[in-house]
Amino acid sequence: MRNPVTALPPLRDVISRHGLAASKALGQNFLLDEQLLDRIAAVPGDLDGQDVLEIGPGPGGLTRALLRAGARVTAIERDRRCLPALAELADAFPGQLTVIEGDALELPLGQVMPGPCHIVSNLPYNVGTALFVGWLGGKAWPPQWLSLTLMFQREVADRIVAATNDDAYGRLAILSQWRCHARLAMKVHRSAFTPPPKVMSAIVHLTPAPMPDGVAPSRLEALTAAAFGQRRKMLRQSLKGLPGALAALESEGIDASRRAETLSVEDFVQVTKAMDAG
Ligand code: SAM
Repeated sequence: MRNPVTALPPLRDVISRHGLAASKALGQNFLLDEQLLDRIAAVPGDLDGQDVLEIGPGPGGLTRALLRAGARVTAIERDRRCLPALAELADAFPGQLTVIEGDALELPLGQVMPGPCHIVSNLPYNVGTALFVGWLGGKAWPPQWLSLTLMFQREVADRIVAATNDDAYGRLAILSQWRCHARLAMKVHRSAFTPPPKVMSAIVHLTPAPMPDGVAPSRLEALTAAAFGQRRKMLRQSLKGLPGALAALESEGIDASRRAETLSVEDFVQVTKAMDAG
């Protein structure tokens, strides 16, 4: 059953009462608009009774939206100044919120969450991509996470969901899309944050898809790194240092005079397979 709407103090009051002036070093840009926060919490679908990991709850804006949606939330926060505000939230939603003080980069998912969970986060920009690449790159598939709903700078979000031939298409698109469905769920204007960051943001939503047989993530990464390392060059040139890559291109009938951005995600998967079979 969903929680009844709990009367919570406005987030601005929480921030001033607990002295949570935004720290630049911790990538703190807070969201205070509760309607926007409820819309973000709705992106993964119905969370009633579901386990959610949130990274960087800060004063707890997104956290309270997740709790209102009925989720059981585990939140990792590095800034201990935020802990009293989060403790108040835990009291308002008994049994629904567990807060861990620590650095998310040093806490493996399996250590923090015992079972499958959704990950929802307004990520600190400085650690966001590192966490994301770690969640995407695991050997075990399907992964422990059921979905990722993550705030990124708009430019990074565009790179995650880019299609073949887009300017933003590159390594991040392939790593995100070869065994996930990835979509841009919501654009978020910089003015929605306190303080506003310099750039626009967007929420991406990813769910795991079946993993193609016979492809090691590390091999696909090596191929895409070489192919996009010299983006403007023909594949003949950019792949010549990667053993087996040019023969694999030929066996897949891909013209080596093409550039990396013209190959689909599926092409990269097939070339990786052919490289390992060759
Ligand atoms: N979720 C809040 C919101 O939407 O308003 C705050 C988002 S703010 C962009 C990022 C939060 O991540 C901050 O509270 C910051 O202290 C926290 N943070 C930064 N680095 C972290 C890390 N390595 N591990 C855990 N939390 C971190």
